Amino acid sequence: MKTIRVSLGSAAALGLKKVRIDCLPTTIYIMTPGKCRARCLFCSQWIQRDYLSRVHWPEFTVEDVVSHLKKDQRVCIQCLNYEGVFEEVMELAGRLQDKTGAISVSAHPFSREEICSLHPYIDRISINMDCATQSLFEKIKPYYSWKNHLSSLLYAKRIFGAFKAGSHLIVGLGETEEEMGRMMAWLYHHELTCSLFAFTPLPGTPLEKVKKPDITYYRRLQAAHYLMYDRGETLRFENGLISNLNDDIPPEAFTTRGCPGCNRPYYTETPRNIYNFPYTPTESQRNLVKAQLKRIDTPGCNDSTCPKKSQ
Ligand code: SF4
Repeated sequence: MKTIRVSLGSAAALGLKKVRIDCLPTTIYIMTPGKCRARCLFCSQWIQRDYLSRVHWPEFTVEDVVSHLKKDQRVCIQCLNYEGVFEEVMELAGRLQDKTGAISVSAHPFSREEICSLHPYIDRISINMDCATQSLFEKIKPYYSWKNHLSSLLYAKRIFGAFKAGSHLIVGLGETEEEMGRMMAWLYHHELTCSLFAFTPLPGTPLEKVKKPDITYYRRLQAAHYLMYDRGETLRFENGLISNLNDDIPPEAFTTRGCPGCNRPYYTETPRNIYNFPYTPTESQRNLVKAQLKRIDTPGCNDSTCPKKSQ
């Protein structure tokens, strides 16, 4: 494998590209170079191979990327699904290992043998459900099987250990607050990590007309994530909503959550409309978050998903 794709921000952080960016990634995001065959309905791979979400991923030689890596800088390998991708991931992880022990792989389900052979080279694995319910999964990720994804996740946890394996979840694909809360709780109770992403409508994809999730809905899920993963609390549900949220939630709850050092700057949002803060929010941003959360009594999750809209 001669070349790989690198997110634009990561290329800037490595000094491979000069771009004006107000927040550099604290993890280097690279992507396997092939063409994905899975066609998940939200994914930019439908339209452009050099994009993932709203981010451009230019191509560089593997040599260039490895030689610019700083010692122990986390690298996250985003895997597309095509013939031979696993061999490429193994080759990459082998070449990166001398430079950094902090390697994450974000992927579709690999076989049990593959998960075992990958384990000595990486410290974190994410097998991404993306969807909060089986019906949404089957509609939005028809190439995959819900059951196979879940069993692959549980197997990865057995091999990597507690909270070293996990899943990405995309908020705003048509789930209700309770459905997303229950999926997060399932991950937590199986000692799996959970990384929240805000759905991003991309022109040219089948979901281009779906709206971004309401910010209050998203903030409530970030608060729920914090209560579970940072305080070990159990979520309770009433009328389709999480009923035991409180407003004693610190600002770090609204930053990007995932592998250590993962901040994914503006991966699913713009600097003007931030869902996952890639840095600790400023004073004024904290006040904004409080105001966004205050709409707790008039939750504004997407019209199509709002179980009950208070008048
Ligand atoms: S949480 Fe971040 S570093 Fe971890 S797999 Fe996901 S994108 Fe990569």
